[in-house]
Amino acid sequence: NDSAPMSRQVKTTCPYCGVGCGVTATLEKGTLNALEGDRQHPANYGRLCVKGSSLHETLGQRGRLLRPRVDGVEVDWDTALKAVAERLTAIRSQQGNESVAAYLSGQLLTEDYYVANKLFKGFLGTPHLDTNSRLCMASAVAGYKRAFGADAVPCCYEDLEEAELVVLVGSNLAWNHPVLYQRLKVAKTRNPLMRVVVIDPRVTDSCEIADLYLGLKPGSDACLFNGLLSWMAARGKLDEVYLTRHTQGLEETLAAAREEECSVAAVAADCDLDPERLETFYYWFTSQLHVVTLYSQGINQSSSGTDKCNAIINCHLAGGKLGLPGAGPFSITGQPNAMGGREVGGLANQLAAHMDYHTPGAIDRVTRFWATDNLTPTLPNGPGHKAVELFAAIERGEVRALWVMATNPAVSLPDAARVRAALARCPLVIVSECVTNTDLLDYADIVLPASSWSEKDGTVTNSERCISRQRGLLPPPGEARHDWWIICEVAKRLGYGEAFAYAHPAEIFDEHARLSGFENASDSTGTCKRLFDISGLVGLDRDAFDALAPIQWPVTARAPQGTARLFEDGRFATDDGLARLVPVRPRAPEQRLSAARPLRLNTGRIRDQWHTMTRTARAPRLMNHRAEPFIEVHPDDALACGVADKRLAVLTGEAGEYRARVRVTNAQRCGEVFVPMHWSDCFTRQARSGALITGHTDPLSGQPESKHGAVALAPL
Ligand code: SF4
Repeated sequence: NDSAPMSRQVKTTCPYCGVGCGVTATLEKGTLNALEGDRQHPANYGRLCVKGSSLHETLGQRGRLLRPRVDGVEVDWDTALKAVAERLTAIRSQQGNESVAAYLSGQLLTEDYYVANKLFKGFLGTPHLDTNSRLCMASAVAGYKRAFGADAVPCCYEDLEEAELVVLVGSNLAWNHPVLYQRLKVAKTRNPLMRVVVIDPRVTDSCEIADLYLGLKPGSDACLFNGLLSWMAARGKLDEVYLTRHTQGLEETLAAAREEECSVAAVAADCDLDPERLETFYYWFTSQLHVVTLYSQGINQSSSGTDKCNAIINCHLAGGKLGLPGAGPFSITGQPNAMGGREVGGLANQLAAHMDYHTPGAIDRVTRFWATDNLTPTLPNGPGHKAVELFAAIERGEVRALWVMATNPAVSLPDAARVRAALARCPLVIVSECVTNTDLLDYADIVLPASSWSEKDGTVTNSERCISRQRGLLPPPGEARHDWWIICEVAKRLGYGEAFAYAHPAEIFDEHARLSGFENASDSTGTCKRLFDISGLVGLDRDAFDALAPIQWPVTARAPQGTARLFEDGRFATDDGLARLVPVRPRAPEQRLSAARPLRLNTGRIRDQWHTMTRTARAPRLMNHRAEPFIEVHPDDALACGVADKRLAVLTGEAGEYRARVRVTNAQRCGEVFVPMHWSDCFTRQARSGALITGHTDPLSGQPESKHGAVALAPL
C-alpha cells in the first residue's frame, strides 16, 4: 500500500482475557509487524503475556470469512441483510416476539453489544438475548448484586499490589490472567511481608508464589469460607463497627454457617484439607486488614457459584476488608469485554445500563429513552432465557430464530450434543463470525462475515471497570463488516432506521453514556441512584472518542477522572445504603459421582490458547505449549483405570465422550481429572469438553456447572 504512511503507532487493547492489557501496535506501510505492551496503560504498564505478544501472528486473510452467505450461497450484503430482516419478520409475525433470540459474546465491543441489546429488547420486544459471558462470570454478577445492590467490582488492580494478603481461590492466575500474575509476583518480591494463599483442587503454576496452598475438595469452597466466618466470630475477630454501620444480615448468615459443625477439624474434613493449614489461612485472613480475595471460574462455574461468591464477600464484610486500598472481594472476568456486556444489559436478566427489569421505573425509563413508547411491541416486562435455558427453548421449538454473534455455543455450552441437535432443528440460525473454522457454521442459514480485532473500533471494559479503546488498525478483509454496522443495517430494514442511524461507534458510545446517566441524578448524599454511570463521558466527538484514555467507571461530574475503588465511604447501592451478608448453605455439585462415573471432572483454560482457538491456533508458537488436547490424572487413578502416561484414553460422561492423550501428574488430586476446554471439531472430533458436562446450572445466576463433571476413565 504505497499511500500508507511509512510507520505509525496505534494504541489499542488486547482482545483476550479480562485483564485488558494496553497494546502499542506498530504499522509499517499498512502492515502490522510488531507490537508491545502499552507502557502507559494502567492494566499492564508495558507488560504482555505470550498470547498478547503473538497477536500480530494471528492476522491475515487465511481462514477468514469474506462474503455473506444465505442458504450456502454467497450473496451481496444487501441480499443477506434483507434475508435476515425478512426471515426474522416472518417468524415473529407467525410465532410472536419471543420466538426470536440472540446469543452474544464477551468478544464483542460495547458498541456492538449496545445496539444488539437495543434492537432485540427495545425494538423486537424479546427478552431472549443472552451471552457466552453467562458461562464465565454470571455467578459473580449475582453475588455482587445480592451483597452490594449492584453488579459492582469494588477493587482495582493496584489493590493486588497494596494488599498484605492475596487469596487466589478458583483462579489459576498464572495461566489465565498472566499479566496480573506478573504484577502480583513483582509486588510480592518488593514486599517480602506480603503473603499469597492459593486455594485450588489442582496444583497450578500460580502455586509458585504461594506461601500456603490449600488443595481443597472440588466444590467445598462455600464450606471453607463459612468456616472462616464462624472462626472469626468465635474469636471476636469481626469488625463490629463496620458491620453495625454498613451492613445487614450478620445474625442469619452466622446462623446458616453454624448449621453444620464448623470447628476447624470439621471444616477441614469436609474440604479434605489438613486442619493446621486451614487454620493458618484463617489466622492470616483475620490478622490482616488489607486482604484481596481474587476469584474466577473455579468459584463461578458451579451450581452453587453465587453462594460461593457470597460466602467470600461475607468474610470481607465481616472483617471490614473492603473499600480500602489493598482490600476486597475481586472477581476477575475471563473475557475481554464481559464487563462491557454487563454494562449495556447484555445478559437475559438485565434490561439496559445495569438496570434490571425489576429496577423501579426501569422499563418505563428505558422505553422513553429509546423512544419505543409508540411501538408495538413494547419492551419485554421480564427476564429472558439464560444461555442453557435458551437452547432448551430452541429444542422445544419455542425459540425459532437465533442470531449468534462472535461465539460458538456448539462447542462451549454444556451438553454439546443437545445444543447441536437444538441448532439443527432451529428454523433460522444467523451467525455473525470472523472465521471459517467454527463448527457453528454447519448450522447457519445465514452467515455474516464480521470484522475482527485489529479492524474493529470501539471500547471494552476490563475486570477493574476500566473502559479502554480497541482501535481499528487495518481494514477488514473482503466484505467483512463491523458487528454494530451489521445490526444497524438489519434494524433499518426492519423499519427502525431512525433509532439506528449511527455513522460511527462514537455515536453509539455517546448514547450508551447518556443512558447510564438518564434520570440517575445524585441523591441527598451525593450518590447516584444507579452505580453504573458514565455520564461524565457524554458528548465525546469522534476525535475525543478516538483519544479516550483508559478510565474506570463511574465517570460522573463528581468523578470526572473515574473511580479506582468503590464503597470507600461505606455506602452501598442498596436502598438503605447497607451491604448484605447473605446466608449460605453449602451444596454439593449437581453432577453426582457414581460407580459408573466415579471421577470428578474439572475443565479449564491452558496458558497459550484462547476459547475455541480460532485465533490462537494461527500462531505456531502458541501451539508449542500444549500441542494437543489431554487428560490430566493422578498416578493412583491412572493405575486403577489402566491408563498410562502419553497413551490415549477415553473419558465417558453422561452426555458424551472425550478422547485424548493422558498426562499423569501429581498436580491432580486423586479421584479427579482435568481437561482443557479449547479443542473443537475443527481441530479434532474427539476432544470437546462440552460433550462431558451436563446442563446443570446455578439457580440464581444460570451459570453452568462446568467445573464439576462426573466421568469414567478407560484406556483406548
Ligand atoms: Fe492479553 Fe490477558 Fe495476556 Fe494481557 S494478560 S496480554 S489481556 S491475554
